[in-house]
Amino acid sequence: MNLTLKQYIDWINDWTLDAKNVINHYLNKAKEKNSQTFSFVRFHEDYVNSHIDDLISKPLHGAPIGLKDIILTKGYISSCGSKMMKDFVSPYSATCFETLEKNGGLMVGKTNMDEFAMGSSTETSYFGKTINPHGINRVPGGSSGGSTAAVAADLCIAALGTDTGGSVRQPASFCGIVGLKPTYGRVSRYGVQSMASSLDQVWVITKTVEDAGILLKAIAGYDTHDAQSCPEADTWQQPTYKNDVKKPKLALPKEALGEGLDPRIKTRFLEYIKKLKGLWWEIEEIDLPIMGYAVPMYYTLMPAEVSTNLARFDGIRFGLQDDTTKYPDILDYYKHIRSEGFGEETKRRILLGTFVLSSANYEGYYLKAQQAREQLKADFSKIFEQYDAIITPTTPTLPGKIGEKINDPLTMYLEDMYTIPANMAGIPAMSIPWGMIEENGEMLPMGIQLMTDRRQEEKLLELWWILEKLN
Ligand code: GLN
Repeated sequence: MNLTLKQYIDWINDWTLDAKNVINHYLNKAKEKNSQTFSFVRFHEDYVNSHIDDLISKPLHGAPIGLKDIILTKGYISSCGSKMMKDFVSPYSATCFETLEKNGGLMVGKTNMDEFAMGSSTETSYFGKTINPHGINRVPGGSSGGSTAAVAADLCIAALGTDTGGSVRQPASFCGIVGLKPTYGRVSRYGVQSMASSLDQVWVITKTVEDAGILLKAIAGYDTHDAQSCPEADTWQQPTYKNDVKKPKLALPKEALGEGLDPRIKTRFLEYIKKLKGLWWEIEEIDLPIMGYAVPMYYTLMPAEVSTNLARFDGIRFGLQDDTTKYPDILDYYKHIRSEGFGEETKRRILLGTFVLSSANYEGYYLKAQQAREQLKADFSKIFEQYDAIITPTTPTLPGKIGEKINDPLTMYLEDMYTIPANMAGIPAMSIPWGMIEENGEMLPMGIQLMTDRRQEEKLLELWWILEKLN
């Protein structure tokens, strides 16, 4: 049984499937096969049993959904892949989870992730590494690698993740599935542990484009708890999915074909561009030099926000706790808790963030990066005056071997060079799988990304739906 969300809903509606049987099938399969990928860090059978009857009667009919462990769920552990939060039982639920529940989505368990969503391989999780279902020794990408591996291995029908710089599109590409990032403000961030608040966004991870639209609709909405939530967050319509959209015009930035792109991905990507041009797509190469500065901008602004957001973990109000009388003073206590509780990558970013925000460096780094971000937004807006969407490969590389890049952070950071600009600009973006490339006998997935202007999810879904059929 490898069901899409659409099939699940349709087949429950016409009585072809029994919802309880399907849910139990998925739960048992996930528990049995989880050791092959370590996609889930926890299963919530008690939650499933206590909510199944109520959720089955709602529009999503209790469809089994995996939740990234960064999304708070009242009464259940939400650990963010960190030792710092390993026993944290949340006193409230994230709005996106409550909305999902109202629409009948059923949480089967919490999925593994890089610590506090920092990483591109799901190797920085305190709980262990997730493995890509497409290769025994391959990383699934990150930080939402648990959610994407779970969907790719069909341990659940769909999943939620978060993406700050590429954490859904990159692992979706590595695992051969669909990842959709909505416009910033479309889905509430309330109750989602913050990494870099001006960039974070909740995402949907599905097997098809149509499923992405269904799941996004089920979690989108205005929320007064999130100051950046947009009032018209749920006013968009599901596309009609007909082949009659006006002839689209796509921009292909030359910068997306330059240094760092694996030649095998480049060849495959250009073959598809040729194919699209041969059909009816108008695709023009453009100059978008600001794209080349997105990674340095991100690694200046993101750590600044990380260092501020994670300052709350002091071992008193939040985080690990210890007997304070064992320490000579409060600073020693803080030092101990933060050294013990955070992993290496998290510490690196806190240090970097504290540095760029320090009074001596603020103007030279943080302020400059903010100015550059404004320029990036303006340059992207200009492109969308002339084009329907921007097309790029999703990642410059194929999924690497476990352990290959973990000690080489700079190389790892470059894996998000095509995904970061959409977070910087706050625009929607979506990655869909685009065939497989052979490497040492293993067939590895690659993805293609489309970005549209703000609030144009409908267009994005419609275009990708057409493209999906051509694959
Ligand atoms: N891989 C990027 C990073 O390590 C993106 C993370 C994310 O989107 N949460 O920061």
